[in-house]
Amino acid sequence: MQTPPIFDGHNDLLLRVHSGNVPFGPDGFQGGGGHQVDLEKARAGGFAGGFFAIFVPSQDASMDMEEMNKPAYDLPLPAQVEWSTASRIALSQAAILIRLEREGALRICRSTSDINSAMEAGVLAAVMHMEGAEAIDPDFHALDVLFGAGLRSLGPVWSRPTIYGHGVPFRFPSTGDTGPGLTADGIRLIKKCNELRILIDLSHLNEAGFWDVAKHSNAPLVATHSNAYALCAHSRNLTDRQLHAIRDSDGMVGLNFAVAFLRQDGRMDEATSIDRMIAHLDYLIQEVGEDRVGLGSDFDGAIVPAEIRHVGGLPKLCEAMEKHGYDRDLIAKICHKNWLRVLGKTWG
Ligand code: ZN
Repeated sequence: MQTPPIFDGHNDLLLRVHSGNVPFGPDGFQGGGGHQVDLEKARAGGFAGGFFAIFVPSQDASMDMEEMNKPAYDLPLPAQVEWSTASRIALSQAAILIRLEREGALRICRSTSDINSAMEAGVLAAVMHMEGAEAIDPDFHALDVLFGAGLRSLGPVWSRPTIYGHGVPFRFPSTGDTGPGLTADGIRLIKKCNELRILIDLSHLNEAGFWDVAKHSNAPLVATHSNAYALCAHSRNLTDRQLHAIRDSDGMVGLNFAVAFLRQDGRMDEATSIDRMIAHLDYLIQEVGEDRVGLGSDFDGAIVPAEIRHVGGLPKLCEAMEKHGYDRDLIAKICHKNWLRVLGKTWG
């Protein structure tokens, strides 16, 4: 089967470049590093673009990801990151994306027609996304500036408190019902995003925060990179009730490839079969409908199934979908059409 172009809901390449793990510039981005997204692998895997996250790492070392190899875990929420620190890092990551565009490595897309034309031209289509709003001041000056620079998607929190909300901790087994939701400033942020038609990402909100967005936002509900709680009882995954709210708002969910959110035992073990991804796709389609499921790989931010490894492994997922009985049309919806549909509705 010819793999349809893949437009994906989440990667952390900008963080990797920012941290110095990926050589900067189109030459460095060309390939050869140990990272999961680069131009060479993208070409091989039919990766046509997606959401590129600006992400400010925690400044304390409180989070030990090794804990996620235990049968049960509850990682504490890292400390809030101050605006001055966060904005320096966020601007630097936005600048990396802008320079990659200037050097011809990708195109920053502000509309679905931008995405379509980049895909047609064979240029990586990048949506500037921000995962956690630490760099956004409560007067929203930074938001206006970043919107001007191309920001079209924002998560009010990563798994860490901000002035806008609390975030969901990495906890297994646990629902996402872990504490209070959005603050009053958080609700103002939702309204401001609605006004600017910036997509609001639900993926790292706890349940209370999710329901606050559902109540106050006028846009389709979107979780860019989350899975089904019924198959993996992780706090980052979505309960049936949340999935039904997403369905009823005509939003969507992007399948997260992170093994800890796929596996029934919640462990960070890369020996995880592609069948597990298919099982989540089946379940998500059952609960939200086939027009509301896409991909949200978390490449360069997560341990993914060894069979996939990086963007070059995406055709294996498509083959598995086909073998499982998904028809050409459904595979195309999952690979990019659903994202384009929901982005069109959200951005106008
Ligand atoms: Zn994330």
